[in-house]
Amino acid sequence: MSAYLTIDFPADQSSSPKAECHLIVMTESHDVLSGDEAQQSEAKQEAAAIGFKASGGNSHLMSSASGLLLIVGIGEAPTSKLAAEKAGAHLYNAMRKSTKISAVMTSISLDASLAASLLSGAMSQSYEFNRYFTKKEETKQLHLSVVASDKAVQTDFADAEAMLKGVFLARDLVTEPANSLYPGEFVRHIEGLKHLGLEIEVLGETEMEALGMGALLGVGQGSSRDSYMAIMKWNGGGDEQPLAFVGKGVCFDTGGISLKPAKGMEDMKWDMGGAAAVTGAMCAIAARGLKKNVVGIVGLVENMPDGMAQRPGDVVTSMSGQTIEVINTDAEGRLVLADCLTYCQQEFKPQMIIDLATLTGAIIVALGKEYAGLFANDDSLSTQIVEAGQQVEEKCWPMPMGDAYDKMLKSHIADMKNIGGPWGGSITAACFLERFIDDGMKWAHIDIAGKAWADSEGHAHPGGGTGFGVRLLNQVVDNWQS
Ligand SMILES: [Zn+2]
Repeated sequence: MSAYLTIDFPADQSSSPKAECHLIVMTESHDVLSGDEAQQSEAKQEAAAIGFKASGGNSHLMSSASGLLLIVGIGEAPTSKLAAEKAGAHLYNAMRKSTKISAVMTSISLDASLAASLLSGAMSQSYEFNRYFTKKEETKQLHLSVVASDKAVQTDFADAEAMLKGVFLARDLVTEPANSLYPGEFVRHIEGLKHLGLEIEVLGETEMEALGMGALLGVGQGSSRDSYMAIMKWNGGGDEQPLAFVGKGVCFDTGGISLKPAKGMEDMKWDMGGAAAVTGAMCAIAARGLKKNVVGIVGLVENMPDGMAQRPGDVVTSMSGQTIEVINTDAEGRLVLADCLTYCQQEFKPQMIIDLATLTGAIIVALGKEYAGLFANDDSLSTQIVEAGQQVEEKCWPMPMGDAYDKMLKSHIADMKNIGGPWGGSITAACFLERFIDDGMKWAHIDIAGKAWADSEGHAHPGGGTGFGVRLLNQVVDNWQS
């Protein structure tokens, strides 16, 4: 739902604000990164005396001449932004273990950008989704006041906090169950972003029918919920052609008539992880006020078995005019994306398109849960995405495509089938999407099936919905050279 840690920079930075204790940040070699000189030396003595292990996440409360000191262990001293975020996650875990809920942090001896990353890592780690618990466990709201002489700490943190707004939105959307987050409700979340300056346009089933989006509409026809396409526009870059992001938003995927097995089907509430990432990224781009034109498009459907549902063997006509034989109704994400990609190109003629989707289980077979799978028709775009991913710890691994895979999509009665053979399922899925990309259009597809959800704690997130993709897409925009 939100961050359990709030951070502020008191206006009057000369006097220490009221807080229960002073936060003393300590590395595992007992270097102290915050607090005045007297506090630092008292903390060091105490830590040595009690054998305090300042590996990540430990805390110790002590009294001193200047009041209570809360020593928090962050492991190794951070020397990069990513390491500082990880240290921040340890800082939050340590604060969380203490009985104190408010602290003040002064005299930070880290570069401004590292200090800001430390704080944003702590905030990112403090995310929790608790709206369905009726018996509130101990959900204590923590607060940290930061007194920093270098103003850059505050400005860097403001940018990181705007980013986290988008990350948390994506985590919320991914975590929300499908009886509450169906396509129409997803649209309401998107419309709630108008106040950030995003222009929102929504296509309902009538409009999509008129545009010939038979591929997307076929997926949703077995659901009692209406299907939608939502378009978010950020105009920060004058009259330049926009960068475009497209997301798969299958709010629940039963597999349709090609029904999935019962075991683990509950995970399919996050089959809208691509749409969540694009929506979160657009939220962050607007909140950060980027000086670029960016458009985000999400296709929102629910894939259900029903008397009206699409059958295996049905042939549908996509907006591009190409026909598709639907061999397996569980390969539905690509059908949704196909019409989104066509609409995106016809309407916006973007400089490039990146689509994100929890598209195939096969990508988890190939890459495990460490990397997202990256497919691209342009080497420079591929390199930019890989590099952006390394900068924000949202890593992507380039995968192959090509004619040998593409020809597996041959159908006997339509332009293509929606699945290939038994092997290389992530690759044939990417080849399917490429058939909807116009000549000369730079395009990349990122299969995030292994990254949208984490069973355990990761890089500055507590587990569950990760928000993967929000920071990646923002970094791509930040780095973009047209
Ligand atoms: Zn499916």
